[in-house]
Amino acid sequence: MTARAGEGDGGTAMRGVGVSPGIAIGRALVLEGPNVAIFRLDLTAEEARREVLRFRRAVRRAVRQLRQVRDRIRREAGESYGRVFEAQILILKDRALHQETTRLIARERVNAEWAFHTVVGRYTQVFAQLGDQELRERGTDIEDVAARVQALLSGSKRRHDLSELTDDVIIVGATLSPSDAAGLNREHVIGLAIDGGGPTSHTAIIASALGIPAVAGLRDASTRVRSGDLLALDGGDGSVLHNPSEDETAAWHERRALQARRELELAILRDRPATTRDGLRVRLMANIELPEEMLAARRFGAEGVGLYRSEFLYLREAPGLPGEEEHYRTYRELAEMALPDEVVIRTLDLGGEKYFSTILERRESNPVLGLRGIRLCLKHEDLFRAQLRGVLRAAVHGKVRMLLPMVSDVGEVRRARAILSDVQRDLQARRVPCDPDVPLGVMVEVPAAALIADRLAREVDFFAIGTNDLIQYALAIDRGNESVSYLYQPLHPAILDLVRRIADAAAHRGLRVSVCGEMAAHPAAAVILVGLGITELSMNPAAIPSVKQVIRAMSLADARALVEEALRLDSAGEIGELARRAVESWLPMEPSSVVEVRS
Ligand code: PEP
Ligand code: MG
Repeated sequence: MTARAGEGDGGTAMRGVGVSPGIAIGRALVLEGPNVAIFRLDLTAEEARREVLRFRRAVRRAVRQLRQVRDRIRREAGESYGRVFEAQILILKDRALHQETTRLIARERVNAEWAFHTVVGRYTQVFAQLGDQELRERGTDIEDVAARVQALLSGSKRRHDLSELTDDVIIVGATLSPSDAAGLNREHVIGLAIDGGGPTSHTAIIASALGIPAVAGLRDASTRVRSGDLLALDGGDGSVLHNPSEDETAAWHERRALQARRELELAILRDRPATTRDGLRVRLMANIELPEEMLAARRFGAEGVGLYRSEFLYLREAPGLPGEEEHYRTYRELAEMALPDEVVIRTLDLGGEKYFSTILERRESNPVLGLRGIRLCLKHEDLFRAQLRGVLRAAVHGKVRMLLPMVSDVGEVRRARAILSDVQRDLQARRVPCDPDVPLGVMVEVPAAALIADRLAREVDFFAIGTNDLIQYALAIDRGNESVSYLYQPLHPAILDLVRRIADAAAHRGLRVSVCGEMAAHPAAAVILVGLGITELSMNPAAIPSVKQVIRAMSLADARALVEEALRLDSAGEIGELARRAVESWLPMEPSSVVEVRS
């Protein structure tokens, strides 16, 4: 019931999940579903033997093809994206899949297509029934691999060859396999609109690595849209307009132009240093949770990773716990991607609001004050050791620092250091390559730690101030509780006082100190932090440009004078107002976007 452009009042709106940002306006190309018919053929014993060989040949060729796809994607999109196809290669090399297929061919004397189809069917059925969406999506990798092998067996081309398009199109499909996505011709595929999938699907990951705007989870777009229909989609918010009117199309073009302008401004700013007018160099880094976010971090001009929240590895890999190898591979990839910049890997900060049932036996009545961060690691030493081994081994491949969360006491640091030294000795004794000099720092995020910052400074190599928790604990505000969120005030005089104390203690011993809480992401707060002596700020990557803009517009002398005045005021409201006015005076053309200070 869609209206074609010019015929009705307007287009039909659809809503999915934005999985790769950007705006696309163009004609649809609807993909047909898979329609390869697979027949069962009854064979002689001799023919069946030949089928086994034919099957093995097809698998070998599929592996070769996948290696080529993997290498190309690595070149075009980055090392980590090649992993999607690494996973597919592993599926193809899976012995059970092989043996079940070849045994079926021999036992029932059937053709390879039929046997493989039957065996793959069993696997995909199991995956389809899994509760976990991410694992279910991995089932599509098996289907993708199977389609490749079937195509090789039948001697036909793959279902869609999207590398040979000649016109600009938005691809619409029930699903799009990772192989299809990897084969997209970036010149002509300007967008993707997919019925299935979600943000964690491999297709989504590849689309975003290739920079193609994509919306997934549209349910029935592939049956509602016909090839040639006009589509406008926003891969950021997941909105799609089917057959927009002329006015609507014009509005979408305007929206796209605006976004392009923003991207351009961002790109210009990205390559400029965050240096104040009087020459102070501030380092702006990214807080990330997944290695894949490194690309976004780079796009926004991050100079390395100031906080890698490693607990997401655990939350993502549930129900199994990652072992040393998983840690090593993840951190190595991260360290390599970040070069020539560094990565600060925070050891597990599970517990608190990042609840994880496999480790914590029961819900605590007050988890935020419970067994979390370093406390949990020191209780579950095996878990901690596996992570430390992974970090020390990965550090050989890049510039890595290590950070302990939720420290409230010098004893915790000493115990952690003792375990770290033991792990180091063990790796060296076994001649496992590792970096014995990984700097060790603490998150200063518990008020007690801020108050004993001078003592902690004697034990560690650097500080990272976690203002999210520091504010929570110092102001007694549950950071996740909406009803008290109005009291969550980063510019509260108590917080500025604590930050100053930490910065002074670090300066006294010549330690590096950063702020990696959300506070650093707000320009008006960031300038106060710089005035307090902080020269490293780590934040969500998208916030970097606006912080950089204000740092480039001010001087250190300005920031110091601002802080001096702020510390004489009595409330967060007054300090916020002062900082807002200062920032506005340095950035006259950019008023409201830079001044709000909330977490
Ligand atoms: C913090 O507490 O400020 C911080 C950066 O860590 P998280 O938000 O992960 O607790
Ligand atoms: Mg914290």
